[in-house]
Amino acid sequence: FLQGKTAIVTGSTSGIGFAIAEVLAKAGASVVINGFGEAEAIEEKRARLAEASGAAALYVPADMRQPDEIAAMVEQAVAETGSCDIIVNNAGIQHVAPIDTFPVDKFDAIIAINLSAAWHMMRAAVPHMRAKGWGRIISTASAHSQVASPNKSAYVAAKHGVVGITKTVALEVATDGITVNCISPGYVWTPLVEQQIPDTMTARKLSRDQVINDVLLAAQPTKQFVTCEEVAAMALFLCRDEARSITGANLAMDGGWTAA
Ligand code: NAD
Repeated sequence: FLQGKTAIVTGSTSGIGFAIAEVLAKAGASVVINGFGEAEAIEEKRARLAEASGAAALYVPADMRQPDEIAAMVEQAVAETGSCDIIVNNAGIQHVAPIDTFPVDKFDAIIAINLSAAWHMMRAAVPHMRAKGWGRIISTASAHSQVASPNKSAYVAAKHGVVGITKTVALEVATDGITVNCISPGYVWTPLVEQQIPDTMTARKLSRDQVINDVLLAAQPTKQFVTCEEVAAMALFLCRDEARSITGANLAMDGGWTAA
């Protein structure tokens, strides 16, 4: 149902972003993927997306810390595919440290990538969406858009901020056929998470199940990870016409974390 539409997914060379790019391509959209990684692996993914959609698939290595590169990526998408109908602000990084020793450069990078980039993406994309009378803006926020954990001051500030931008822009474009929403996952099962398990087992002398339930999933009442596919399915639904009334929302997918 997305034939003829173009989606830009930031931070889509791995994890949640790639899963979202894949479902959008399977629904027929041209996709622009973005993020860092090994050139060959990225090209393999880009080719897989082009095959899935039968439409264009571009890789644009714009650095989300650079506003001019973000604007140029949106313009390139429009120049090469004809439009920019869906944007998914997904690129994100984390750094964990107490406030008094939190490295300033890490704080600046987290705010730039996890927060400011979403603002720059929206600023560049909204005029193209308005011109078509249709658009979907989706940001991957986090349970940390609603609640805090110690030592994550930059990440929590950025994710709370994404919700603020989402609500504001949703109001600004409410009569233009454009919806603006966040998806807020709890702990998502990604290779990154999986790779932490053996080290934590050794360091804390715990079994695999104890690491998963008592360390990683301590805050998640279901004691189950969210999957990238679940997040992607929600993003895909938000692109449907049936989702036209969902706007300005922060949709929790956190196994009950923020209900507690
Ligand atoms: P990931 O590390 O697998 O993917 C992050 C992506 O962002 C990669 O493609 C990376 O190359 C890209 N990226 C990093 N810095 C960039 C930059 N300067 N410019 C462009 N791209 C850049 O992580 P993920 O778990 O898939 O996370 C995706 C999003 O989901 C993030 O915003 C993250 O905060 C959010 N999130 C993740 C979880 C989780 O448990 N994994 C939970 C809640 C929210």
